[in-house]
Amino acid sequence: MDSVNTIVEPSRELPVWADVDVCVVGGSCTGLFAAVRAARLGASVVLIERSNCFGGVATNALVLVWHSLLDTEFKKPIIGGLTKHVLDRLAARRAAEPVGNESVGYRMNTEELKIELDMLVKEHPNITPMLHTFGCRPLVEDGRITAMLVENKDGRGAIRARVYIDATGDGDVAARAGVPYTVRENLQPPTPCAKILHFRQEGVRFGEIYRDHAAEFGLPPDSGWDSPIPQLPNIFMAAQTHVFNVNAADAKDLTYAEMEGRRTIRAVVDMMRKYTPQGEKVALVQLPSVIGIRETRIVAAEHCLKEEELLHGVRFDDAIANGSYRIDVHAPEGGGFLFKYLDGRQVFAHNQRYQEGRWREPTPTNPTFYQVPYRCLYHRSVKNLLTAGRMINSDRGAFGAVRVMVNMNQTGEAAGTAAALAARADADVTRVDSVVLRKTLADGGSIIY
Ligand SMILES: Cc1cc2nc3c(=O)[nH]c(=O)nc-3n(C[C@H](O)[C@H](O)[C@H](O)COP(=O)(O)OP(=O)(O)OC[C@H]3O[C@@H](n4cnc5c(N)ncnc54)[C@H](O)[C@@H]3O)c2cc1C
Repeated sequence: MDSVNTIVEPSRELPVWADVDVCVVGGSCTGLFAAVRAARLGASVVLIERSNCFGGVATNALVLVWHSLLDTEFKKPIIGGLTKHVLDRLAARRAAEPVGNESVGYRMNTEELKIELDMLVKEHPNITPMLHTFGCRPLVEDGRITAMLVENKDGRGAIRARVYIDATGDGDVAARAGVPYTVRENLQPPTPCAKILHFRQEGVRFGEIYRDHAAEFGLPPDSGWDSPIPQLPNIFMAAQTHVFNVNAADAKDLTYAEMEGRRTIRAVVDMMRKYTPQGEKVALVQLPSVIGIRETRIVAAEHCLKEEELLHGVRFDDAIANGSYRIDVHAPEGGGFLFKYLDGRQVFAHNQRYQEGRWREPTPTNPTFYQVPYRCLYHRSVKNLLTAGRMINSDRGAFGAVRVMVNMNQTGEAAGTAAALAARADADVTRVDSVVLRKTLADGGSIIY
């Protein structure tokens, strides 16, 4: 925020609300899975989330697709752990189903996901959940966080922990603790998702309607996607617009993006009522409680994951996550997506037009998955802090692939496991033995190669 001038906040004593092994700030599946994995290793954990539920983008922003748990040939399982566990639990309630075939992934009824995540937390009595609680400020002394200051309806208090995990997406904790970070010039833009009744109808191509009539409704050139929702016939999740040129980690930009995003959703509904055969049957069912944010701060770590490493399937000794989702970069303006695949193909997609090419020549064999090393989750400047989620240190291309939830969930599980190991040994997160970490992850259900 721009400031008019400054005032001095008087210093005061704060109550310590908890003194635990691990404090996780941010309660998407990334943060919640970190908490569960740490708790399962016997750690006492506080899990702080600013909104009214867990799940992050999946619940609050209505993003309902988890991508494939298999390699690019759809043969080898590469992702297990809590992602698979939660999908199985949802599938048992018919609240998750494969998208076409399992190569794409699964779609969920994310309202059911909220409840399943509550249950998962409650199954671990050594996790203290704190909803409606904002992680405000880490106190740092000699390169270690000594307390996390949080605020909620009770006022302001401190959480003391041996190890802290920043799972805020934006890297709020790391940035305020002084870990270096960057915000790219060409950020992937946020999208306001919505549930819309009768969004789809056989033979109606939304992309063409958007292309021909968007301007009449004050919408910029753009393109997006939509999905049916398990258990809810005729209701679709539509992610059809972006709000361009905003940094969602900037308070003023974020306010603008939320309001502009809601305007674009109404404009889409009105356009469909006028130009589709569904007409007045089209209705807005649900707005997101937060705009879907793709990218803000990228927080420094000991390793920056590169597009080159990812596309060539480079293996790491300290790998803690595997992924097969393609590079998928949303254009910073004008709509369109650039996809790059591990087999050398490249596609630019915009409004159902596809420009196909290659980023490299064909080869007889191709890598079928990529990896994320543990070194992407910590930086030597703060020795008891791990970062998990979309602030992950990665270049623009690598970020386009690793950012999806099945990958971010694994960074959470790894951070929780590493945090529990570090807390138990009273060691820095930089000193966690990657052999032990990988074995402990595998013993807890993760697929480790
Ligand atoms: C519109 C859209 C569509 C997408 N489509 C897909 C898709 O189909 N499949 C897919 O897998 N991925 C998709 N992605 C990408 C993916 O959803 C995100 O990259 C991923 O969810 C990021 O996870 P995260 O845990 O890092 O962040 P988030 O999900 O944003 O979680 C951060 C959590 O921290 C909380 N928080 C933040 N700051 C604080 C604070 N200071 N104190 C307390 N709590 C805090 C937030 O409330 C939130 O719960 C999409 C993203 C967007 C925006």
